[in-house]
Amino acid sequence: MRRYKVGFGVGVGFTVLMVLLAGIWPNGDTGDRGTAEVEPSTSTSMAGAPAAEPTLGEGTASPSPEPSPTERATEPEPEVTAEPDEPARDVHGGPMGTRDRTGTDGIALTFDDGPDPNWTPRVLSALRERGVKATFCVIGAYAETNPDLIADIVHDGHTMCSHTWFHELDLGQWSDEEIRANLQRTNDAIEKAAPGTAVEYFRHPGGQWTDRAVRVAADMGMESLHWDVDPWDWDQSSGKAHIRDHVIDNTEPGSIVLLHDGASNQQNMYGALGPILDEFERREYALIAL
Ligand SMILES: [Zn+2]
Repeated sequence: MRRYKVGFGVGVGFTVLMVLLAGIWPNGDTGDRGTAEVEPSTSTSMAGAPAAEPTLGEGTASPSPEPSPTERATEPEPEVTAEPDEPARDVHGGPMGTRDRTGTDGIALTFDDGPDPNWTPRVLSALRERGVKATFCVIGAYAETNPDLIADIVHDGHTMCSHTWFHELDLGQWSDEEIRANLQRTNDAIEKAAPGTAVEYFRHPGGQWTDRAVRVAADMGMESLHWDVDPWDWDQSSGKAHIRDHVIDNTEPGSIVLLHDGASNQQNMYGALGPILDEFERREYALIAL
């Protein structure tokens, strides 16, 4: 609006000036051109900007670039280089090339060592209340004794990860055949509890990865899943406040958070889970099932 008025004023002033100087009554060309020049150029830049923006920006940059054509004309390069200045972090930064990031802005909560008859249902309720999806790294023997919990986890839309048959910490030292048999037995228990469930991830107990365990799991179609946030929530010396603060302070978009619905300190983990989910909601984090 303001630009139009200024342009119009300039146009009128220019017209008057021409009349005074040349002593010729204009036939309308000058006056028309004065206003006409402003309008098309304004509308052209307005129409041109949105067309260009979507290819460069993600939406956050769109309000600023369009009003100042001079900026766009003089320095379009920094605008382009500014966008990709966040090189995609390697998502396989865990031991033995295991995945330790989601690869997106989404945050993955992972719950290990269950299913547990006392705590898994409470964790599921907390997640359900908030519409949050997660990934459960379950122990085969517990899946076999608690098939209903496996079915509940799958029913709620969470994803499955194998955490071996009985949390064998030295599994990675075993032979290929022994590792394969252990993981197959675990997947069979999960499949029996929730038919048709794909187990796409494997997490070695204690994070004691070996190349062999990673390779055998990969041969079976499972990606090895590490983490980048570990509050030591399984350890009984980890209080609720510590677990809460560690997770909140260290989680960022793309994080994989290690928690336990099994193990031996679930009360403190569960006590921290609500505040953690509240804070993530406040930050508008997207929580995803891998
Ligand atoms: Zn574990």
